[in-house]
Amino acid sequence: MIIAIDGPAGSGKSSTARAVAARLGITYLDTGAMYRAITLKCLRLGISSQDTEALAKLTSQTVISFTGVPPESRIWMDGEDVSTQIRSDEVTRNVSDYCAPSVVREALVKQQREIGKNNSVVCEGRDIATVVFPDADLKIYMVASVEERARRRQKDFENLGVHKSIEELKEEISLRDHKDSTRKNSPLQKAAGAEELDTTGMTLESQIEYIVNKATALIQAKSAVAK
Ligand code: C5P
Repeated sequence: MIIAIDGPAGSGKSSTARAVAARLGITYLDTGAMYRAITLKCLRLGISSQDTEALAKLTSQTVISFTGVPPESRIWMDGEDVSTQIRSDEVTRNVSDYCAPSVVREALVKQQREIGKNNSVVCEGRDIATVVFPDADLKIYMVASVEERARRRQKDFENLGVHKSIEELKEEISLRDHKDSTRKNSPLQKAAGAEELDTTGMTLESQIEYIVNKATALIQAKSAVAK
């Protein structure tokens, strides 16, 4: 079973997807973390997001892997645990530029499909139901108001010891939304057949339950057909 969850930053995708995967006992695939890892490596090496040739080479030579199950899962880049570094302010501000070139997207989409080939997964990102897994069993497009998303991001950053005002975060989120939804390659958009879930004012628990119930109904329907 493939559950595809797309949506803008702070819409609740990550926390929800992680918990849904844990409850259903299936793999959690955080595709944003993969784009963040590539961004981190480029920033460390001083590679520009405009340098397509260097980006292609770097992406093809980078090994990204995941270990553990949520909430203990870790992401590794070339053997280094980068789970914390990929959440830094610098990576967050630059990731939308580094994830846009097709050389980066094609390589990572290939890896994502490989993971989904033999596993049941909850996969979250921006282009999951539109590009990576267009035949996903369940497609959810999560949204929330910019105000609410800024409040959530503020909490995430505070956990990392970074203080940012709501106004500053609203601006950053709006800029990232704009870049992600207007780019040429795989822009963020609601896929055909996706269900929109507005999480403004919803609790995390109700978001998780909503998707787990849908997935459980699908699993039961599939097993009834198989009998
Ligand atoms: O979900 P997260 O905020 O970690 O994603 C970081 C960035 O990676 C997004 O702002 C977007 O630019 C990019 N991304 C993407 N396609 C995905 C997942 C993330 O372009 N499938």
